[in-house]
Amino acid sequence: MTNHLIKGAKPLGGDAVDILIKDGRIAAIGDSLSATGAEVVEAAGLVALPGLVDLHTHLREPGREDAETVETGSRAAALGGFTAVHAMANTDPVADTAGVVEQVWRLGQEAGLVDVVPVGAVTVGLAGERLAELGAMADSAARVRVFSDDGHCVSDPALMRRALEYVKAFDGVVAQHAEEPRLTVGAQMHEGDRSARLGLTGWPAAAEEAIIARDVLLAEHVGARLHVCHVSTAGSVEILRWAKSRGVQVTAEVTPHHLLLTDACAESYDPVFKVNPPLRTEADIEALRAGLADGTIDAVGTDHAPHAVEDKESEWASARPGMLGLEQALSVVIETMVEPGRLDWAGVADRMSVRPAAIGRLDGHGRPIAPGEPANLVLVDPAARATVDPAALASRSRNSPYAGRELPGRVVATFLRGTPTVLDGKAVR
Ligand SMILES: [Zn+2]
Repeated sequence: MTNHLIKGAKPLGGDAVDILIKDGRIAAIGDSLSATGAEVVEAAGLVALPGLVDLHTHLREPGREDAETVETGSRAAALGGFTAVHAMANTDPVADTAGVVEQVWRLGQEAGLVDVVPVGAVTVGLAGERLAELGAMADSAARVRVFSDDGHCVSDPALMRRALEYVKAFDGVVAQHAEEPRLTVGAQMHEGDRSARLGLTGWPAAAEEAIIARDVLLAEHVGARLHVCHVSTAGSVEILRWAKSRGVQVTAEVTPHHLLLTDACAESYDPVFKVNPPLRTEADIEALRAGLADGTIDAVGTDHAPHAVEDKESEWASARPGMLGLEQALSVVIETMVEPGRLDWAGVADRMSVRPAAIGRLDGHGRPIAPGEPANLVLVDPAARATVDPAALASRSRNSPYAGRELPGRVVATFLRGTPTVLDGKAVR
């Protein structure tokens, strides 16, 4: 394996140093390092971060390889600076057995571009009726620790309680898509003045907040770990803050799109902006940014949701909800959090690598940039700006809500255990 010498990068935005990568690990950090035979990566002006970790990616394989595959999604992830992604269970067949999670895990290994960490379904077929084989998935080669019916809410409180109790045995976590389904029948966008004016059925904030409130109480009662997917409302942040102050073992993520975009996007009737949970209001965005800044929200999770053209480019009401996210996640965080001074680079590393790795119990990710650690690294040019062109994305789908938008930050290089997956801003393979 080729060794690499990174020259002049700034770990977490600090002083420029050289980083020597040898045999998959960080071998040395210092000034004016040299190493014969090592490939030199010029990194003056670049910020070095631990490889990013996503808790929430839809890779669509098996079942919808026309929208994304494990390989194309892995490449998109590497280009976004990720070294590990959690692959959601709503595939076809659903990842609700050891066999399916091992299949996804093996496909990730074969692609070799990021660590693909399968999420196991909580209930059989995501049907919300009986628990899937959680223990068998935990014991499988995929070593599943995160369980989620994402796309669907585990709405039966007794079943949710049993899932929380069950995963304690193997230090797992239940990641909830918080949506009380009886409050969102036919919902198309955030419920408020705008939905009334546009004549679209609303998705009320209370449908999310009611489930989060219920689940933090259940998690407290049984002493289990709960993770809340894609928090989207100011009220949800308040409930999480309250729960954490009580010592409840709850963590939460926010998506890049909920940090940047509002329900005003629906005015265009362009279905690229249709997503679940929906884009909310300016006041919600402010609360989400504040929650991510103060740590009430632990992580950024992309909810990368590729859709084939026929599922997305239709009229609003019949379009599938979901947006691409992997390739622009870091740029959106720079735009919404770093440039306004709400998060420094150490904070970005914490919310996009350290904490998501800890929630997923991934030992080799989210580690300090220090000698002896696995060389999972990303080099970012924070000064670069570029306009997003969906045609240029590595994802097999094109449903980016950032099309035509100029965003800051460019991933220049990504290393997975010392092997570059991205160099000069391009996928190595
Ligand atoms: Zn979801």
